[in-house]
Amino acid sequence: MKYYSLNKKAPAVTFDEAVIRGIAPDKGLYFPESIPKLPVSFWENIEHLSKDEIAYTAMKPFVGDTIDDDSLTEIIADVLSFEFPLVELEKNVATLELFHGPTMAFKDVGARFMARCLGYFLEKNKQQEEVTVLVATSGDTGGAVARGFYKVPGIKVVILYPSGKVSEVQEKQLTTLGENITALEVDGNFDDCQAMVKRAFLDEAITNKRQLTSANSINIARWLPQSLYYLFAFKKLKEQGKSDNLVFSVPSGNFGNICAGMVAHLMGMPVKQFVAAVNSNTTIPRFMESGKYRPAPTVATISNAMDVSDPSNFIRVLQLFENDKNLLSEKFTSFSYCDAQTRGAMRHIYSNLEYTADPHGAVGYLGLKDYLKNEPDAYGVFLETAHPVKFLPAVEPVVGKITDLPKQIAVLMDAKKESINANSYADLKNYLLRS
Ligand SMILES: *Cc1c(COP(=O)(O)O)cnc(C)c1O
Repeated sequence: MKYYSLNKKAPAVTFDEAVIRGIAPDKGLYFPESIPKLPVSFWENIEHLSKDEIAYTAMKPFVGDTIDDDSLTEIIADVLSFEFPLVELEKNVATLELFHGPTMAFKDVGARFMARCLGYFLEKNKQQEEVTVLVATSGDTGGAVARGFYKVPGIKVVILYPSGKVSEVQEKQLTTLGENITALEVDGNFDDCQAMVKRAFLDEAITNKRQLTSANSINIARWLPQSLYYLFAFKKLKEQGKSDNLVFSVPSGNFGNICAGMVAHLMGMPVKQFVAAVNSNTTIPRFMESGKYRPAPTVATISNAMDVSDPSNFIRVLQLFENDKNLLSEKFTSFSYCDAQTRGAMRHIYSNLEYTADPHGAVGYLGLKDYLKNEPDAYGVFLETAHPVKFLPAVEPVVGKITDLPKQIAVLMDAKKESINANSYADLKNYLLRS
């Protein structure tokens, strides 16, 4: 499998090169030359396969022979060493819990997979030069990437995060590890952080000195393994005879997760519809309505990991559907919800369904319920993308004080925060040139 640049002005490359580079030399996102169709026998037998077997079959065509089979098997077993429960909450509505990994957000899978692939390639190439993973985070990416790459030899991680716009738990996750992880605290929002990162990748003064790569969902090794969540859900629903007319509602920010779900669909998984549920950052629902792509200034919300107004991966969503909005709208719908609606949903889910949703999952629930209104025969799954304790200020007013923190989180609360202020691009550049 080769990957080409969506800007079409750079050569196609193999999986390893695309992972190491992150972004193509012409600044385009890498995209697979084709989406492999998995064999009919795979879909017929999926309920008898383990999650590692499913993952191996789905990832192998993307990886090709850049990773030997035994190593790929090992990487997958290591990356997927926790559960992905599907919990039915009401008739025809289930939630897929993606928060059982080390940082309790779904990004753990992509970040761990990328870290292990990159570590493997650097070792295989006997590379001497250190690689710097430079990443902007709206909240959960930073923690997942920090944990995924923690102490991986040959890799330094620099994370930019918007000061005061991530939750306390999220901030602890990215500022307390130390070692090869550095957090830069930016006086701005996520889009400002992302703009600084993009500029650094174009800055030859920096790239001549350091080998940079990204660990945002634009990196194919973070993006593609997210398709596994959908396969795991499909397997469980097929076991229960509930996999017909399947609808996935995905709380979306940068649109990497939902785009990976659509990849799983194009690999042969039958899905009726994907619903992209967003908060008050409404660029995509407005685009689906008007055909005009007009990012507005980013709005801060209680589902802060989705506070993105110019989602990087939407170009990939369009590419999967031949850049044809009409074709896309047959499989893809997008709805937006304000914070008051999100709080209302959290309350409803807690009081009536006896389940604690985090604000992102609650947005996903709202999107699913709106879509299902006209589709009584569909079965809907909304993705719970983070554990509710990651968002205590939004969750506690609904469910009361949470004292029983999961152990992954409890150990962080007393750890000391260490960050470096970066209030302008010059600060970032200085840091990258001097450190
Ligand atoms: C990152 C994140 C999202 C958004 O995912 P995208 O792939 O960027 O659309 C949603 N919820 C949580 C909790 C996240 O951390």
